[in-house]
Amino acid sequence: MSDGRHGNRGCGHAGAGSAMTDDIADLISESLIVRDMQGRVTIWNRASERLYGLPAAAALGRRLHDLLGTRHLFAMADIEARLLSGGTWEGEVGRRAADGRELSVEVRWTLRRDAGGQPADIVETGRDISALNALEQETRLAAHRYRNLFQAMAAAFWEMDFSRVRMMIGSLMASGVTDLHRYMAENPDWVVEAMRAVLVIDVNDKVISLFGATRREEIVGGHVAWCFPPQSRHVFAESLIAAARRQDRYATETTLTRLDGQSIDVLFTVCWPEEHKGRGHVLVGVIDITERKHAEEETRRSERRYRELFNHMPVALGQLDMRYMNDRLSVRFANQPPPRNEMDIELDFIQDILRGTRAIEVNPEAQRLFRAPGREDMLIPIERFWRTRPETVRRTVLARLNGEPGYSEETKVDALDGTQIDVLYTVAFPPSTWERGTNIVAFIDISDRIAALAKVEQMQSELAHAGRVAMLGEMAASIAHEVNQPLAAIATSGAACLRWLNRAQPDLDEVRDLAGRVVSDAQRAAGIIARVRDMAANRRADHVPLSLNELVEEATHFLRNEFQARQVELRFSAAAGPALVSADRIQIQQVVVNLAVNALQAMAEAKASAPCLSITVAPVAGSGLCVVVEDNGTGLDPGTAHRLFESFFTTKREGLGIGLAVCRSIIEAHGGNIEAGNRTDGQGARFSFTLPSSAEKTAAN
Ligand code: ADP
Repeated sequence: MSDGRHGNRGCGHAGAGSAMTDDIADLISESLIVRDMQGRVTIWNRASERLYGLPAAAALGRRLHDLLGTRHLFAMADIEARLLSGGTWEGEVGRRAADGRELSVEVRWTLRRDAGGQPADIVETGRDISALNALEQETRLAAHRYRNLFQAMAAAFWEMDFSRVRMMIGSLMASGVTDLHRYMAENPDWVVEAMRAVLVIDVNDKVISLFGATRREEIVGGHVAWCFPPQSRHVFAESLIAAARRQDRYATETTLTRLDGQSIDVLFTVCWPEEHKGRGHVLVGVIDITERKHAEEETRRSERRYRELFNHMPVALGQLDMRYMNDRLSVRFANQPPPRNEMDIELDFIQDILRGTRAIEVNPEAQRLFRAPGREDMLIPIERFWRTRPETVRRTVLARLNGEPGYSEETKVDALDGTQIDVLYTVAFPPSTWERGTNIVAFIDISDRIAALAKVEQMQSELAHAGRVAMLGEMAASIAHEVNQPLAAIATSGAACLRWLNRAQPDLDEVRDLAGRVVSDAQRAAGIIARVRDMAANRRADHVPLSLNELVEEATHFLRNEFQARQVELRFSAAAGPALVSADRIQIQQVVVNLAVNALQAMAEAKASAPCLSITVAPVAGSGLCVVVEDNGTGLDPGTAHRLFESFFTTKREGLGIGLAVCRSIIEAHGGNIEAGNRTDGQGARFSFTLPSSAEKTAAN
């Protein structure tokens, strides 16, 4: 211990350390390190100094894993726990040498116990395998895997004596047969005979259970012809040929027969261990893979099912290669929280992703939906399908980045023939498919439904229109009916008047009397009209606090289709705050609809090139709220502007001239007033009405 390479391990580890001397440790050409149960180095031999570039003095007493930065795929704590329970562990660890070089070291750890059976220390032998080339590493890995497989699968092992078979092959070759392969293929009987010439020397327990024997003797001492069904005989022949060619081993998957005649799928391996070669003994390993075969078959079946589903679903499906998108997303959003808002993702970035992402499979329904002549026509970058609505993909990316399980929305896609199609688009983000680099998107054609909805909307606005006309029609009829009676009376009185006047001696008293009746009948007619007007204003009036903003905006919805059809731009501007008024929703909406329809008609008449209707809700100084409706139509004729609110005043051929009169009745009944004029810039008409705000009305009451 004079050179200081070994620590003080005298106490506590009796029997453990004592077997080791400096000389022995240094004689070993592999690195040998002993550490105590706290992980501190107690022995560090010369080979360790060379391997890690650290003198023993620098290593002793230090914690080994800290010193060398030991790394493994699994946590060190797990490995050490396994070591404690199993006594040994071997594997490959990453370490750092003193000069900073990264090393791969194959280590074998052995736990030593003291006399009392308590863990005393851990002896490590290590070999630097960093220098092994990739092929060697791979081979080592394969060997490692193979070893594990063998253990895990509990293989059935046979030891067989092939010496008689060797003699049979020898005499074949002596008789001039050069192509063993062909000979065996042409002479199956020879193969069966060779099987019978094999002598089973020994088998392990697994063979007994796997091949359905009850006693070892049923197999040992016999031949192997019984376990090769005719379709597997070539496997036996192949292994003979491999032996003749001096291959070390031969392995294949095949089917064997158990003693009870049942078939089993196996991995069949023959090897000729060096020490057995002279004796003509071979080792045969048989691993039952029936389960795995079933699993494979099940996988194939589910793959087939999935394929069928994919192909026959009445939903358009596309499978996308996600690798480009994954790469771009992980570069762009590395080391930062996911974006919260779709606007945080630039459209250019999305376009780039769309150009780099291709469809790799589509089903027939997708071809139909996207109007693709053939399947291949769709296996292109998906940019082609998202020209109209790249924002949908942006929202998809946002959902994916925020860990949502999927995303769907109603959107439009671009078919190959240039048409745009309304679809319900859905994508799920199952981690398995996404990480495999592919994902499936689905589209359901909803163009029929959208068309139907558009029709319903159009019908709604037509109904609103019709309702308005019907109401006016109804009013006109009742007015006509009511007014007809005084008018008839006026006509009768007028005719009598004329008769009295036409006499040679006109009776002026009668005429005066009749003229008085004419006046009072005319007054009655005017009264009827006023009553009808009031009736229109007060009908089902139901005053409740309402948001004027919502109410007006809702009214514009009735006419949405009309705006679209006539390509009229609607600019709606709401008042700040709740904008509460106490009003009858239907009636105020009737006013807004009337004003808007008039504006639409005026703009149509003026043939405005960019028709624009502006509706503004705003507070008015001290007296509640106002609604201003402006258009860029014909504007009002200054000569008749003062008569607009009169009943039956109209400048339209089909007009009734009652809309504005009703509007005024309604607004005045609500405690507000209505005004008409032209816009200050002279580009059209401007109508406005006020309503007291809800709070003000309550205060006034
Ligand atoms: P009608 O629409 O049946 O003519 P109204 O009482 O609604 O009855 O309108 C009366 C008249 O007011 C219309 O005929 C039209 O001359 C005029 N008018 C109403 N709104 C506008 C407008 N926005 N622009 C120009 N003129 C309008």
